[in-house]
Amino acid sequence: MSELLTKMFFGGFVRLHILYHAMREPIFGVEMMEELARHGYEVGAGTLYPILHQLEQAGYLVSHVEVVGGKQRKYYRATPEGGRAMEEARAKLRELVKEVLHDDPPTPSIRTHRGSDE
Ligand SMILES: [Zn+2]
Repeated sequence: MSELLTKMFFGGFVRLHILYHAMREPIFGVEMMEELARHGYEVGAGTLYPILHQLEQAGYLVSHVEVVGGKQRKYYRATPEGGRAMEEARAKLRELVKEVLHDDPPTPSIRTHRGSDE
């Protein structure tokens, strides 16, 4: 995966993906890496953990530690604020998908928009 694409676009997709799953059930790092890999995102621990930390700092996720098989495991789940952020993102995503993937009906060009505003 291109580093530039990751930085410009996929980083946001990955964050949305994480938030989505954390809304449904508590998630942990390794499991989330597997889930992201299943969707074609090669996200290593060095990338994922800072993202989880960042989402927690932003108030979108909360974490707690559980001991599983003698090892500590950090679980993350979405906060109500995370849920609200997801709702906003969903609306934007719907709008984007409508235009970029379906393009149905074809939207007027930006130039046409601009012209009609004047
Ligand atoms: Zn998924």
